[in-house]
Amino acid sequence: MEPRTDTPLPSSRFSATVRFRVQSGLLGDDDMADDCIFCKIARKEIPTDILFEDDDLIAFNDIHPQAPSHLLVVPKAHIPTLNDLTEDQASLIGALVLRAQALAVERGIDEAGYRLVMNCNHEGGQTVFHIHLHLLGGRQMRGFG
Ligand code: AMP
Ligand code: ZN
Repeated sequence: MEPRTDTPLPSSRFSATVRFRVQSGLLGDDDMADDCIFCKIARKEIPTDILFEDDDLIAFNDIHPQAPSHLLVVPKAHIPTLNDLTEDQASLIGALVLRAQALAVERGIDEAGYRLVMNCNHEGGQTVFHIHLHLLGGRQMRGFG
């Protein structure tokens, strides 16, 4: 399929893959966020037990927990994958990690330990294309595999 030339390029913060999909008419720039489950949670269109919220971040329990504590810390901005992050978002990622740390303390799992995970794209195991940090704890973690 030939890329369309009449569609403005989406912001450069999106990956080449996403920009190609928008150019090709497979995705609209707005649709990316409209159809996104984590954007819907952030907009309160899907009922979720919100554990933390501020202007930039939201945290809630994972719907399919892989550990006694399995929380997701999510930026409100629709950033599809880690590949789309830019340097001006470094403080947002810092805030994401520090929020996970605070939630681990709140859960009482900080001293025993916990795991933070971010998956990127298909081979990284990403299934929701809006970046998020998994906080897992409350059991012994094993090696990756
Ligand atoms: P990932 O595979 O890294 O993209 O992680 C996506 C995570 O989102 C999975 O662990 C899902 O269980 C979780 N998830 C998907 N939909 C929801 C939802 N509506 N509420 C809470 N967690 C969700
Ligand atoms: Zn989103």
